[in-house]
Amino acid sequence: SETILEVKNLQKHFKVGNGVVKALDGVTFSMKKGETLGLVGESGCGKSTTGRTIIRLYEPTGGEVIFKGKKVNNLRGHDLKQFNREMQMIFQDPYASLNPRMTVADIIGEGIDIHNLASGKERLERIYHLLETVGLNREHANRFPHEFSGGQRQRIGIARALAVEPDFIIADEPISALDVSIQAQVVNLLQDLQKERGLTYLFIAHDLSMVKHISDRIGVMYLGNLVELAESIELYNKPLHPYTEALLSAIPIPDPKIERTRERIILEGDVPSPLNPPSGCRFRTRCPKAMPECAIETPVLKEVQPGHFVACHLYK
Ligand code: SF4
Ligand code: MG
Repeated sequence: SETILEVKNLQKHFKVGNGVVKALDGVTFSMKKGETLGLVGESGCGKSTTGRTIIRLYEPTGGEVIFKGKKVNNLRGHDLKQFNREMQMIFQDPYASLNPRMTVADIIGEGIDIHNLASGKERLERIYHLLETVGLNREHANRFPHEFSGGQRQRIGIARALAVEPDFIIADEPISALDVSIQAQVVNLLQDLQKERGLTYLFIAHDLSMVKHISDRIGVMYLGNLVELAESIELYNKPLHPYTEALLSAIPIPDPKIERTRERIILEGDVPSPLNPPSGCRFRTRCPKAMPECAIETPVLKEVQPGHFVACHLYK
C-alpha cells in the first residue's frame, strides 16, 4: 500500500516565560494509506501536538510533514483548500468542538458549503445520509448540540468530519471523555467507516488498552519523542522500550493465548518538567534499566527488527 503521510524530524517548541518547551523534539514516522496508527503516551508527551502540527493547527518549529507527496507547510490556494478537506480532525471533547448556537444540520453542512460539495435539496439529503451513517437520524438535524448525549455528540463530530469526504482523519482521544459502555460503540463506528471508505486514521489515546483493537501499528511517545513504533501485536507481545513495558504491565491480559504473565512495573517519580528535561535519554530518571551512558547520549529511533523501531541504548 502507498505511503500517504511522512513526518520527518518534526519539532514544535513553545515559549513559556523565559524558557522553551520542546513539545516535539524530532518525531519521525510514516503512514500507509488505509492504516490506523495509534499514538499513545501520558499527557504532555506531545501526541496531541503531533496531530495538531500535522493538520496545520500549529506551525512546526522544524522538520516537515509530507501528505500525498507534498509538503503541507508549502501548500497554498487550491492545494491548501484540498488539504483542508482531505485531512479532518475529531476532538476529545465533542461538546466543546460543536458550536452551541448552530443546529446539527448547520454544523454538518458548514464544510459542504465551504467546499461547494452540494447545495439545496442535495445538500440536505447529504446531511440526512451522514446522520444515518453515524447512527443518528434525520429528525436530529434541526436540534442543537446540548440536546444530545456525549456519545451522540461524538457521532455528530464524526458526521461533520465525514461531510467533506476526507481520506485522513486525526482522532485526538475521541473516546476518552465517553462512558466506557459507549466507547466500544464509537470505536466500532470508526472501524466500519474505515472499511467502507478506505480512511486512514491517526488515533491518539492516553493508554494502550484503548488503541489495541483499532490500531494496525502503535507508536509510543514520551516527553516529545517517539520511543517505540511497531505493529500492534508485535508491540503487545514483544515490547522493547522499558517505557512501553511499564505501560503494558499496567493493563491486564485478557487473551488466554498469551501465556506470558507480566510483572507489574511501577515507574518511580513523575514525568519530568518538559521545561527542563533530563539530559541524554529523557526517560532515564524513571527507567529501571538506565545505564551511565543514558545520561550522556540521546538514543535515536532505530529499526532493530523489520518494522520494529525503538529509541533505547539497550538495543545496538
Ligand atoms: Fe532506559 Fe537508557 Fe533505554 Fe533510556 S536509553 S530507556 S534510560 S535503558
Ligand atoms: Mg491531548
